[in-house]
Amino acid sequence: MKRVLITGAAGFLGSHLCDRFIKEGFYVIGMDNFITGDPKNLAHLENHSNFEFIEHDVTEFVEIEGDLDYILHFASPASPIDYLKIPIQTLKVGSLGTHNLLGLAKAKKARILIASTSEVYGDPLVHPQSEDYYGNVNTIGPRGVYDEAKRFQESITMAYHRFHGLETRIVRIFNTYGPRMRLNDGRVIPAFMGQALRGEDLTVFGDGSQTRSFCYVDDQVEGIYRLLFSDYAYPVNIGNPHEITIREFAEEIIKLTNTSQKVIYKELPVDDPLQRQPDISLAKELLHWEPKVSREQGMKWTFDYFKTLSKEELFESEHKDFKQHIKR
Ligand code: NAD
Ligand code: UDP
Repeated sequence: MKRVLITGAAGFLGSHLCDRFIKEGFYVIGMDNFITGDPKNLAHLENHSNFEFIEHDVTEFVEIEGDLDYILHFASPASPIDYLKIPIQTLKVGSLGTHNLLGLAKAKKARILIASTSEVYGDPLVHPQSEDYYGNVNTIGPRGVYDEAKRFQESITMAYHRFHGLETRIVRIFNTYGPRMRLNDGRVIPAFMGQALRGEDLTVFGDGSQTRSFCYVDDQVEGIYRLLFSDYAYPVNIGNPHEITIREFAEEIIKLTNTSQKVIYKELPVDDPLQRQPDISLAKELLHWEPKVSREQGMKWTFDYFKTLSKEELFESEHKDFKQHIKR
């Protein structure tokens, strides 16, 4: 049985990846320190014979007993609100954490896939964004801690590939959504859905003319799975090219959730990218992949998930595990 280590396993994407690899017959080792994740996301795997969990901060030396065939490095805060609250940890997990996992991959002769992001393109001057665009990132702005950690992560991964001959894969993930996103992580989809469920007005930042392109989690996981088993070591965009302005998106959510709330406008965060849409030509050609789930269907499934949360979860304003990690 092939063995795979998934970091960030208690998070949104990591937990879905655990499910997918178990379904495909792998032995899965999940690793997480819960800084933005939640044990609840893995509760259904607790007694599964092909799954084990290790609570560990990947910025510290990572030790795994036995063989490893694959590593998927998904540990990192991922929402602007999260990485503004824990900027040092964000820089450390992208740099020191990635270094540790590359070292582990080298020692185990494992193939490693790292989770990069459309944020490497910053506030893009090229539209849509293709992999050969180098980006427009403000290194010292508040988002720089995430963007630059991810850019460094790509560089060190390519260095291990070129210098050590390590088998590496890099996925540039564009905004992805679905069940198990944290309701209070500040990202626009949980934000709007939480507001709809609490009976609050929907907060659009700026004038709402900025665009995003939202990919449903199952499509994202399929793209990542195909990339891991391809033979391509350079970055590949995985996302849904169906672009929408945030203002129109708020209207869609009001319709979907059937609420009587209105849209209110708040200040646009610093360096918030004005437009974002993946060029997925490379993924189509290389992986024969493209997204299948419509925004209407994906949003409905996601809202169904948020509706199952308890009142307590619905009104929780901050992630309970931030504080215990913030001291370092
Ligand atoms: P998430 O916050 O739900 O999951 C991240 C997980 O990593 C959490 O469970 C967290 O506790 C864990 N983690 C963070 N630092 C750690 C550390 N030092 N040691 C061990 N575990 C640690 O976020 P997500 O949306 O699932 O994102 C997962 C990955 O995908 C991240 O690398 C993120 O940058 C990338 N990504 C996600 C999106 C998206 O739209 N969801 C877009 C681009 C990139
Ligand atoms: N956004 C918004 N209202 C919110 C949360 C986010 O208008 O309550 C906007 C945010 O400014 C950005 C877009 O929605 O333009 C997507 O934000 P998110 O944090 O989900 O992701 P990212 O900016 O990383 O793409």
